[in-house]
Amino acid sequence: MRVAVVGSGPSGVYAADALVSQDEIPVEVDIIDRLPVPFGLVRYGVAPDHVSIRSVRDTLNKVLDKPGVRFLGNVNVGSPDAGADVTMADLRACYDAVILTYGASRDRQLGIPGEELDGSVAATDFVAWYCGHPDADRELFERLIPSATGAVVVGVGNVAVDVARVLGKTVGELEHTEMPQHVLDTLAQSHITDVYVLGRRGPAQAAWTTKELKELGELLEADVIVRPEDAVLDDASVELAASDRKIGRNVDVVKEWAQRVPEGKPRRIHVWFLSRPIELKGDDRVRSVVVERTRLTPEGRAEGTGEIVEIAADFVVRSVGYRGTAMDEVPFDSGRNVIPHADGRVERDGVPVPGVYVAGWIKRGPTGIIGTNKKDAVETVTSLLSDARTGLLPTPATPGGIDGLLAERGIDVVTTAGWRSINAAEQALGATRGRDRTTIHDRAALLLAARG
Ligand code: NAP
Repeated sequence: MRVAVVGSGPSGVYAADALVSQDEIPVEVDIIDRLPVPFGLVRYGVAPDHVSIRSVRDTLNKVLDKPGVRFLGNVNVGSPDAGADVTMADLRACYDAVILTYGASRDRQLGIPGEELDGSVAATDFVAWYCGHPDADRELFERLIPSATGAVVVGVGNVAVDVARVLGKTVGELEHTEMPQHVLDTLAQSHITDVYVLGRRGPAQAAWTTKELKELGELLEADVIVRPEDAVLDDASVELAASDRKIGRNVDVVKEWAQRVPEGKPRRIHVWFLSRPIELKGDDRVRSVVVERTRLTPEGRAEGTGEIVEIAADFVVRSVGYRGTAMDEVPFDSGRNVIPHADGRVERDGVPVPGVYVAGWIKRGPTGIIGTNKKDAVETVTSLLSDARTGLLPTPATPGGIDGLLAERGIDVVTTAGWRSINAAEQALGATRGRDRTTIHDRAALLLAARG
């Protein structure tokens, strides 16, 4: 059986691992990615200073070395009109089954006036830039960061924490990481002294996790500041904090911060709750964020109080979640921005599409930690193997035809060997400055490095 996995992030690699880790049905798996390098958000989402989380790459790397697994990078799957190299129809002709694990790469919007002003960006784009994603807008951030003095981060999830921490850290605190040198050089020119993190609800409703949250209070050159009134919980939130340990711990961290006396560090991270942005104001660039105080409704939602304050900010990062996008020829739930499925079997109008499966963020939405994808991928692979056993997989028209097709179309495929060469080149680049590795951000340079 030949299976194509589209997307080489954790869910894709875990799916491949689950397929080749059983011996009932011999399987060959191709993990296809539009980028020349594997591992998706492990490489381009996990903050570079989260070194231990990034080390999951070692586990994922081992899967690529397993017999029966190939990496086919720099191969874009989708619509030819959008410049894709191969279509879903091509994959379905070449493989017995296709597992879609291409994640949720787009940002969500706030839908407030001024959001489109220069200086207002999506966290997805900022994160992509500081992780060295080949498609990141380097010029934009090299212009915005050195000329900014105040930042607002909207949202209180783990991505917001990452963004605030990267803005609050000194370059000395980031220098050991894999960040490309141009990112470190740009961050070194930052004059941002104040970073406001805005949660539209209270500390008990925040989406972040305690370990990640705590790090914000441990920065060398940045005080973390919480207004005492923001740490006071309503009755429902007190109950929430008492009944859920994670929420209780988050609330404890916030309460401790609210009692801190600022040490007079040169930077400040202000964490505001019950605060929602209602407008970004500016001229040629965003200059301020109009923030309305909220209160919690009995259902735990945020409603405006009419009390307004304006925060001076020339760099605004909306960190309000990721969003999945549709793939040509594949059913899509545009309300939830996921591919509809039952136990990982893709469904069109409630009926399974034979041979097409889904796992990861594009299956369940952008939630959970990296490990969540393992269980998720195993569920999908279990469905696929069961379908294989019961003869429900369609017969491909040109089994094994993918190599010929890619060659015919002149696609510069990066194989596992090519990725190993990139890996070595990144380690060698890092070693020139005493680091474990430095991310090569440029697509042409990655393709060159892949050739060894
Ligand atoms: P998230 O956890 O879903 O958080 C989104 C935040 O945006 C929430 O606080 C949400 O508040 C807020 N929000 C949504 N719409 C808003 C609006 N219109 N106005 C104001 N606020 C709004 O998303 P994420 O931070 O992007 O993280 C995605 C996933 O990756 C999560 O599972 C996260 O844990 C994971 N992750 C983990 C790490 C790590 O280090 N472990 C790092 C990064 C990401 P409401 O609750 O009020 O909607």
